[in-house]
Amino acid sequence: MNGLLINGELVQTSLQLDVINPATEQVFTTVPRANEEQLNQAVAAAKIASKLWAKTENETRQKLLISIADCMHENIEELAKIITQEQGKPLEAATLEIHWSEAFCRYFASQQVLPEVLEEDDTKRIEIHHKPLGVVGAIIPWNLPFLIIIYKLAPALLTGNSIIIKPSPTTPVVAVKFGELLKDIVPKGLVNIIVDNNDLGPLLTAHADVNKISFTGSTPTGKAIMASAASTLKPITLELGGNDAGIVLDDVNPQNIAAGIFGSAFINSGQVCIALKRLYVHELVYDDVCEEIAKLANAAVVGNGLDPTSQFGPVQNKIQFDKVCEYIADAKENGTIIAGGDVSDEPGYFVPLTVVKDIADGTKVVDEEPFGPILPIIKYSNIDDAIDSANSLTFGLGGSVWSSDINRARMVAQQLNCGTSWINQHCAFAPNIPFPATKESGIGVELGREGLLEYTNIQVVNINKVS
Ligand code: NAD
Repeated sequence: MNGLLINGELVQTSLQLDVINPATEQVFTTVPRANEEQLNQAVAAAKIASKLWAKTENETRQKLLISIADCMHENIEELAKIITQEQGKPLEAATLEIHWSEAFCRYFASQQVLPEVLEEDDTKRIEIHHKPLGVVGAIIPWNLPFLIIIYKLAPALLTGNSIIIKPSPTTPVVAVKFGELLKDIVPKGLVNIIVDNNDLGPLLTAHADVNKISFTGSTPTGKAIMASAASTLKPITLELGGNDAGIVLDDVNPQNIAAGIFGSAFINSGQVCIALKRLYVHELVYDDVCEEIAKLANAAVVGNGLDPTSQFGPVQNKIQFDKVCEYIADAKENGTIIAGGDVSDEPGYFVPLTVVKDIADGTKVVDEEPFGPILPIIKYSNIDDAIDSANSLTFGLGGSVWSSDINRARMVAQQLNCGTSWINQHCAFAPNIPFPATKESGIGVELGREGLLEYTNIQVVNINKVS
């Protein structure tokens, strides 16, 4: 590839990183990898760019985001094919990831952050200004390697900041390609791409000239980032792991809800923070719900994402694949597998969509976050017990309730201790809807107006008119 976008140039590096295609376990391509000096150059360039960009009008920033969205649109096929080869998801899903990214970028391009007048009379005027923070460090995971870049980049730029993007070492290619495309679109130093091998993240989070960290990834890394950012007291947004529970009430028609549950549990082969990861089903409908979901899982085609017949791709990397295999072993020991469960030893990190019944709280596959294509289904008889189970873990990202009675479902949904409670759906999100978290699933909010303002500091301008 041509180089890493640093200070408006495509910079060659002495270090390289091989990127593995999870469908073949072969090296898909090699990308440039930054060293500490190049990270520091990127931060220095971003610092200068942020000062100039902070002075621009909202309209200039909106126009830039529209140009970036147009650029994604024009390069959708190439970007999607890269995502499929490095991340594994089928080409159709990769194409959808770029479409979503474009829509997210256009949403933020439609926003503005103007001063607000808090009070005004003949003697005084009090204004609230939302000022940019400066240099934002954006640290990205491997499950949605493009969308998560965009939903940090777009609000950061719209609010007047510059940004350093650090993709995951297992999915850096789309970020590097995006940098090449942005070179002639964005002002020098405003957007910088730093590829590492899990070595530069701590330097970025502790850097004195990085003014905010926006991180999406695992809870243990989130805790490390919080500790590292403490040395400079920089604001952080952490979107971390989830183990979202769904609760199915006794009044559902199993056939009607099965597709919705199946889709939100196995989206991106289960590698989504807000995927439905444990399902509590009332005993009256338990067997029927299990059967309907298992039918869908058994019929699903898992394969190489470049094969148009594949509906689900492999697990993204070897470390995650090994973890998922451990969860399957746990499920076999403690429950009854009703779909999937047999991982072949052919090349590729492929795991069949796996559904487990007769499983209980207290097992690894229920209590931990598998982040792979496994759905444990737990039977309950008392709704209060199901709510307690849903709330019992340290995670608090999302949750859902499934019922033919919306009011009944709402009573339960409001008792879930999580950032988003869905009813008769799960995983639905959009750029205008705030995406919050509770407990150890995160700090702060992404998306929506609330997420946009996280890239700003409030400044009060308090005017005495009579002196
Ligand atoms: P991860 O935490 O291992 O890595 C995420 C990123 O952090 C990578 O870019 C990595 O290089 C970087 N990193 C690692 N150590 C670091 C450190 N000490 N300091 C700074 N950066 C560091 O996560 P992952 O395995 O890439 O992603 C999977 C996890 O992400 C899952 O737990 C999933 O639930 C979570 N996730 C959460 C959301 C959300 O919005 N809540 C979205 C997607 C994924």
